[in-house]
Amino acid sequence: ATKQQLMPRDNFHKSFQTKVSLTLLLYSAVRPHGWNRAGVCGLDNSGNSCYLNAVLQCLCSTLPLVEHLLSRDTREESKCRVAETFARLLEEMWLGSSSSCAPVEARSVMCSILPQFNNYSQQDAQELLLFLLNALHDDLKKVAAARTRHVTGNRNRAAAAMESTTIVSRLFEGQLGYVTLCMHCDHQTHRTQTFTVLSLPIPTDIIKCSIQDCLSLFFEQTLLTGVEQMLCSVCGLRRETAVLTCLDKPPEILMLHLKRWVDTKHPLLDLSPFLSSAVQNASYSSYRLYAVVNHTGHLNVGHYTALCHSALTRSWHCFDDSAVREVEDRLVQSAHAYVLLYSRRPFQKPKIHGL
Ligand SMILES: [Zn+2]
Repeated sequence: ATKQQLMPRDNFHKSFQTKVSLTLLLYSAVRPHGWNRAGVCGLDNSGNSCYLNAVLQCLCSTLPLVEHLLSRDTREESKCRVAETFARLLEEMWLGSSSSCAPVEARSVMCSILPQFNNYSQQDAQELLLFLLNALHDDLKKVAAARTRHVTGNRNRAAAAMESTTIVSRLFEGQLGYVTLCMHCDHQTHRTQTFTVLSLPIPTDIIKCSIQDCLSLFFEQTLLTGVEQMLCSVCGLRRETAVLTCLDKPPEILMLHLKRWVDTKHPLLDLSPFLSSAVQNASYSSYRLYAVVNHTGHLNVGHYTALCHSALTRSWHCFDDSAVREVEDRLVQSAHAYVLLYSRRPFQKPKIHGL
């Protein structure tokens, strides 16, 4: 791909945007013929597959993941079925010329590795997102293992650590820290837990709460009393215990799962109140929303769509299977947000070979 190839597309965008009225951009149900925006590509529904399409759209707009999977190095050494299938789909979505495509291969690979999704009934998008990331992580770990054996020729501890991290864990994995305090003897314990998604509780005392409110509730200090009392190793008895949760390691990409609708109007989240003291000075504690899985209707009979921010056009698009439309920033607040993806660093101009 040369500069010349890139230029017409950019010019086309500019002239296109000036010619087409904002109304059309906002309300047109499908991409006008010939509208070719890299990374903005509808996905055909192959029978109740809107949950898969919504999840794939969110991953397609996770730029660091796309850049990694489409990089020459990854493609050359990746002989893994999941990673390569996903890369081929991303290639079509980012570098193809169609306004929509059919994720047939991705679906068939998903069904073969995740048999629980091998049917035409509606499934849970959040579950699928976790399963897919996990499958991708496991797949890429094999590549990492082969690479470290090739480089070091042996398996020492550092090599083993390198093998267990992949682009998936580097982006999506965070660590929570729990400090427990025995209310009787002040004995403290500290334990940690890695996570890829936080399922947020919804405050019941606020009528219109924000995601920030839900986060505050998640990280609120709790007192375990009655049957919830914890065994204190010093007292040797179950005691009232205070539990403080904090973020020991903030992830690059923060995934939030909501059990009920909250106000998603504000695209920024401030995580600084929840960071543990060790990471208190982390330069990025402000996270920006870049993708949302929306769910309408009831579980099993509802419909999933995705709202994603394009790092290339710097605008939001709504993906309803193969139908794509651009939406104004202020319209991104969604009444049906189910899974939200935030990035710790703003995505830069895409660096994708062939773009
Ligand atoms: Zn105690």
